[in-house]
Amino acid sequence: MVTHEEVKGLLNYVAQKGVAISFYVNTDVHSKDAREIEAKDLIKNARRELAGMNINRTYFQAAEENLDQIRNSVSLDNHTSRYRSTAIFANSAEKFCRIYRLPVHVKPRLVIDNSFYVRPLYSLLAEHYRIGVALVDSKHARFFEVFIGEILEHLDFATPAMYPKKPFLETFMKREKRLAQRKEEETRSHLSSIADLLKTHFSMQHFEKLVIGAKKPLRDQLLRFLHPRLYENVIGYAEIDIHSTESEILSRVSDMEREFELRQESKFLRRIMNELERDGCAVKGLKSVIEALQDHGLREVVVADDFSQPGSVCRGCGMPYSSEIHPEEIKTCVSCGERLTQVADVVCHVIEQAVRQNAVVRHIRGSSLICSLENIAAVTKFKKSEIVNVEEAAETEF
Ligand SMILES: [Zn+2]
Repeated sequence: MVTHEEVKGLLNYVAQKGVAISFYVNTDVHSKDAREIEAKDLIKNARRELAGMNINRTYFQAAEENLDQIRNSVSLDNHTSRYRSTAIFANSAEKFCRIYRLPVHVKPRLVIDNSFYVRPLYSLLAEHYRIGVALVDSKHARFFEVFIGEILEHLDFATPAMYPKKPFLETFMKREKRLAQRKEEETRSHLSSIADLLKTHFSMQHFEKLVIGAKKPLRDQLLRFLHPRLYENVIGYAEIDIHSTESEILSRVSDMEREFELRQESKFLRRIMNELERDGCAVKGLKSVIEALQDHGLREVVVADDFSQPGSVCRGCGMPYSSEIHPEEIKTCVSCGERLTQVADVVCHVIEQAVRQNAVVRHIRGSSLICSLENIAAVTKFKKSEIVNVEEAAETEF
């Protein structure tokens, strides 16, 4: 599982020896052959770039070794329906290698530098919630972190709390009452320590949303002990047996996560619809979204998960254009003047630029609302009438 600590580690990584290689590739869109050709091209360019770099022979060989490993891993990779792309971060000279399977498409690329190119991974991870799952009975607790289809148990919850025994020198009636009180005290102390541990894990960013697996009335009691920040982030309750296997827990929580996402998505899509209806700050359709992007006006973008469209991209600044370029045609970028080049899918370039402009991107899976928004829409900083069409403005200028 990609933990928060690991992402931080990648962000802070600077190669002391050798070079840091970052590789992103889609693993499910094409046939195996097409995937290998795409990877081969990236690796060929990388080798050329590497040859032009001024690095010593040992590090050069280490980097070559890395590129071979990457090429082999692409050929071996069997596509599974759950994952759509893979990200690899490697530096053989420091024996560093991390491989992550990702649930959405990425722009294929291979970057060689002295630090890792983590931005696409980071923005993608920011789209997904890390979910904490607390399974609680009157004496025990277990805690799991669930993230993009993977589950990890944190074992500090598993140790049952010990309570000091108090001497009993009472009558039978008094003793019964005392025992009941004591049981109540023990439960409260148990729940309070769970609430404390949850707060600690929350502050360590092990989860953003919480699922509570406990029976009533214990669940209601636990809620009273939770920190308000945690309480407002509870996305659901389930009666999950505390002895369940990780895969059983994962399957229950994934269903709950999907339901929660659907609620959030439809709320967000409706907000865009409302903005569009009143000619407010929103646009729909690839052409309008690109216009808003060129005007640096995107705030939040929603895109159908499987949406792709041909278009063109500036070779200099990477700005996408909705128009296609015919082989003999020469078109230049209105922002930097570099030549535009035809691309098979311009949507991943739109996403990449949107992220670069600090817009939030959400991928939507199978909602009829996103179809009525022409597969891509955005909340913008300006009203549609205020967005300057950079292409038209450039044409009228000359
Ligand atoms: Zn440009």
